[in-house]
Amino acid sequence: MNMRLEALRALMREREVPALLVSAVANRRYISGFSGSAGNLLISDEAALLFTDGRYTVQPGARRTTFSLRTVSSERPLLTLIVEAVSELGLDIIGFEAAHTTVAAHTALVDALVKQGDTVPELRPVEGLVEQLREVKDAAELTTLRRAIAITDAAITAVIPELRPEHSELQAAWMLEVALRERGAEAISFPIIVAAGRNAALPHAQPGTTLLGSGQPIIIDMGGRVAGYHADLTRTIVLGEPDATFREIYGTVLAAQQRAIAGLRAGLRTSDADALAREPIEAAGYGKAFSHSLGHGVGLYIHEGPALRKPMPGQEDKAPLLRAGVVTSVEPGIYLADWGGVRIEDLVLITDEGCEVLSAAPKLSI
Ligand code: ZN
Ligand code: ZN
Repeated sequence: MNMRLEALRALMREREVPALLVSAVANRRYISGFSGSAGNLLISDEAALLFTDGRYTVQPGARRTTFSLRTVSSERPLLTLIVEAVSELGLDIIGFEAAHTTVAAHTALVDALVKQGDTVPELRPVEGLVEQLREVKDAAELTTLRRAIAITDAAITAVIPELRPEHSELQAAWMLEVALRERGAEAISFPIIVAAGRNAALPHAQPGTTLLGSGQPIIIDMGGRVAGYHADLTRTIVLGEPDATFREIYGTVLAAQQRAIAGLRAGLRTSDADALAREPIEAAGYGKAFSHSLGHGVGLYIHEGPALRKPMPGQEDKAPLLRAGVVTSVEPGIYLADWGGVRIEDLVLITDEGCEVLSAAPKLSI
């Protein structure tokens, strides 16, 4: 039995969506196990169809899936197959993933359904159905995530002692990328960030020719991908002796992160989770310098739900609750334009009692 498919069907019944077209790549992979780059799912209570082309019908992932395969070809394009299936199943309402469907694709589908004649089914936009399921990781996903995280930890731990002040950010990023691949990552989760000195004041700096230098903050943000699942880790280091500013900022960020990790648990509002780290940073006078949210879910996407962030004004009691099984980053940071920045990021697994820190790369002790 495909437990994820059954969970999705339960959620569809709850939301009164009798059939769902799944077009987002990660959602399709999550529900069907099919990892090819092209394909769509049509799911109802009775049916689970995978539409893909001939390149993929021989792929192991396609053969393994519990979905019935319908092969798209130039003679029988995707829309024809969808319209056929819709009439075969007698569907009168079809949900589609509004966040992942272009206006052009929607228009083409409406046209094809109208052309087919009879009664035209209603296309109903839905949001976040599969995404909601994906937030809570099952055992197989956790095993894969742990592997991606362990590779990332091992790579940064091996490379940091090799870094020299005369290396550029780009050279350091390449050393880290090689180390990830050598340890079994299938890809990098995102372009590695190495930001030295004032560049570290930009949370999403791109590595360039700036040298790592001595005595200044260096932010390294990286992750390796395994079987589609991402890792996300940030360490801030200094080559040589850190200055007094670094000690103060680093100590503040580390204490904020530790406070958040100590307080995270299932049932906590995501906005209250953010506050755990934001309060001590504000109290230290750096509130404005913590310019992003505390964390984000990680899985088939590097950034997915839930978002651990400040509530919108007037929405203080409306943020969702953390659920057991969520894997989220915990990444407070302080960024000072004329100096640099510090960010420390670990991935944690939310449990009923608290959270388990999954990342194990050592942190600077100052
Ligand atoms: Zn990161
Ligand atoms: Zn992150």
